[in-house]
Amino acid sequence: MSCIFCQIAAGEIPSEFLYENDEFVAFNDIHPQTPVHILIIPKKHIVSIADLADEDVPLVGRMMAVAKKVAEDAGVAQKGYRLVMNTRPDGGQVIMHLHMHLLGGRKLPDRMK
Ligand code: AMP
Ligand code: ZN
Repeated sequence: MSCIFCQIAAGEIPSEFLYENDEFVAFNDIHPQTPVHILIIPKKHIVSIADLADEDVPLVGRMMAVAKKVAEDAGVAQKGYRLVMNTRPDGGQVIMHLHMHLLGGRKLPDRMK
């Protein structure tokens, strides 16, 4: 399996996890776009929201709950933040393993990209 996010989730690429449970890990984006830029990914290899199986829809809800906690831990919950899931090429998705960007730490522009 050559998926870089599967390798990170499996601990095969050393990364500092800001959060981990049985289903998800969260870690800092290597090229942060904002003072707080965290990626939240499922350990299960799911390609994108567009590839989501019906059985995995509840997982995305649990991913939102993880985002809420990670945002609190990162100190951005009170002022606010943005959750982004780039989907397929026109959506700007480069890594084909489902991930959520948690962006915060400054006032974000009304539109991204
Ligand atoms: P996307 O364009 O939505 O597919 O975003 C992929 C994100 O993954 C980008 O913001 C990259 O900076 C980030 N990224 C790529 N490789 C790594 C890595 N090894 N560790 C942390 N973040 C990464
Ligand atoms: Zn993967």
